Amino acid sequence: MQSCRLFYSDDPVKIVRARGQYLYDENDKRYLDCISNVHHVGHCHPSVTKAAAEQMDLLNTNTRFLHDNIVLYADRLAATLPERLSVFYFVNSGSEANDLALRLAHQYTQHEDVIVLNHAYHGHLVSLIDISPYKFRKLTGQKEWVHVAPLPDTYRGKYKEDVLNAGQLYADTVKDLIEEVHNKGRKISAFFAESMPSVGGQIILPPGYSAKVAEYVHSAGGVFVADEVQTGFGRVGSHYWAFQLQADFCPDIVTMGKPMGNGHPIACVATTSEIARAFTDNGVEYFNTFGGNPVSCAIGLAVLDVIEKEDLRGNAERVGAHLKDLFTKLQSRHKIIGDVRGAGLFVGVELVEDRERRTPATTAAAQVVKRLKVEDRICVSTDGPWESVLKFKPPMCFNMEDAELVVRCIDRILTDMEANAKLGKEDI
Ligand code: PMP
Repeated sequence: MQSCRLFYSDDPVKIVRARGQYLYDENDKRYLDCISNVHHVGHCHPSVTKAAAEQMDLLNTNTRFLHDNIVLYADRLAATLPERLSVFYFVNSGSEANDLALRLAHQYTQHEDVIVLNHAYHGHLVSLIDISPYKFRKLTGQKEWVHVAPLPDTYRGKYKEDVLNAGQLYADTVKDLIEEVHNKGRKISAFFAESMPSVGGQIILPPGYSAKVAEYVHSAGGVFVADEVQTGFGRVGSHYWAFQLQADFCPDIVTMGKPMGNGHPIACVATTSEIARAFTDNGVEYFNTFGGNPVSCAIGLAVLDVIEKEDLRGNAERVGAHLKDLFTKLQSRHKIIGDVRGAGLFVGVELVEDRERRTPATTAAAQVVKRLKVEDRICVSTDGPWESVLKFKPPMCFNMEDAELVVRCIDRILTDMEANAKLGKEDI
């Protein structure tokens, strides 16, 4: 069992069914789900399960035969993206998507080296462990072709929220890194980053960062890969893709996954025709047995339909803003809340032991997560290098009442923890 880590490992939950933003255990007890970003349009959405069952009943082949679904789906995805991202490769997981992005970048640039952000996670394949500091630090160590740029975190990083041009300054750290790489006689193939670093602690990139980095990376002959595996499909509300939060910026490759199939394994790489052409110039085709099959594409289409019909982006914008607002109000009453940040239904609440020094309150964050589960049956989790950030990435049907409930419960738990700390019962 050591290889498989459960949520709440000392008292795991057995979930037997789910609907919308709610999970039900074997005793039919209901849990509010604040973390399943995969189940984007709501667990087991009837339109999605119907589309899957109907297509499974009709045909499921591979992409060696012509089929409308893959074309219709690629067209629909293209409509959500800037025009230059017009070629789509369908795969089965975020890891497969990122691995293919690496191959595309290598083939197109003929360079080898990759720049990633500190604390990043991009997947579980050998190639991706190599570009995931979050993993390689514990496992294989840093390869000579991998270079780690500072996480542009304006709460904890070198340039904080009071620095006006933090985007430019953090981008310049990438420029410096590129220079170091060149001085070693090496060349940049790709800059790889999540559009909002998740494992890094629900980070919102400072304005101007991505466009500047893209400029530096392009002039070094590399490409910019935006990992939207966690953040895509309207999670940020105001836009379809989180990279669109950054002005005047378009990545060269976008990878997508998790929410794409609402739980069904489907993922994708979108790129430009130039990069795609370079990829197959050497006569090696790309084939993926399950990627882009008619069932997966029917599911993908149904997910897009639900996002539109139920205005889930609008919902993410409204409910996410309310959630953030409620947490910001809570911050004025609980000094343990150091920072509240987010976009749409991607929200992070960073707990600190000391507001001045911003010491991560790791133990307290774990206590909040545990008590929410035991006392309120609310599933929340933590992220960030110190697991001190409470993360909220619920299904996109999360509503105002859910937001109010979770904030009310956290308020009660923090109040109680503070009282206990005063009595010397528990540390927070
Ligand atoms: N990129 C990011 C940002 C992720 O969070 C993950 C999964 N947590 C992946 C890639 C890998 O996706 P998968 O687990 O579907 O292979």
